Amino acid sequence: MKIIAIGRNYADHIAELANERPAAPVVFLKPDTAVLKNNAPFYHPDFSNDIHHELEIILRISREGKYIDKKFAPNYYDKIGLGIDFTARDLQNQLKAKGLPWEIAKGFNGSAPISDFVPKEHFANLKDLNFSLSVNGQIRQQGNSKLMIWDFDEIIAYVSQFFTLKVGDIIFTGTPAGVAAVKIGDRLEAFLETEKILDFEVK
Ligand code: MG
Repeated sequence: MKIIAIGRNYADHIAELANERPAAPVVFLKPDTAVLKNNAPFYHPDFSNDIHHELEIILRISREGKYIDKKFAPNYYDKIGLGIDFTARDLQNQLKAKGLPWEIAKGFNGSAPISDFVPKEHFANLKDLNFSLSVNGQIRQQGNSKLMIWDFDEIIAYVSQFFTLKVGDIIFTGTPAGVAAVKIGDRLEAFLETEKILDFEVK
């Protein structure tokens, strides 16, 4: 399986990092070795002093396809969940400044903790989903899917032009404002609507 991630999909997060609003989705990949499941702890790596949490809604691809038209995109994912797109911001900033690819800042081991997936039928409206992240009991990030620049279907249409989507692939759909560094000992809890579906520690 592969992880396809979208950057800069919430205007408030673009503003907090002083990034430019992109004309097309910013896309990057993480390897399968980035995934952490079942609330496994995240081990803080030594190569960064500034690992940021980015809470994102994730989609599970349920059907193989490419060049998927936006109107058929709902047929290609069956479940959603939450994930953390951990980002070594210090490394990313150094690489960005040189115009170099920033894979190592995004795709390192354990950089994609994910929740269990919930069937999308469980939710009344996928275009109005509240989600939030608390760190040590304090709310750090709050988002709603209606604030995305590109919605789930537009993301699937866009990325499937370049990458054939396969069953079990995961799409990270971008983070709202509030990203910040984590430290050893932090407890991260993520909520989709009212349900806590992710709960793990930084070790
Ligand atoms: Mg992200």
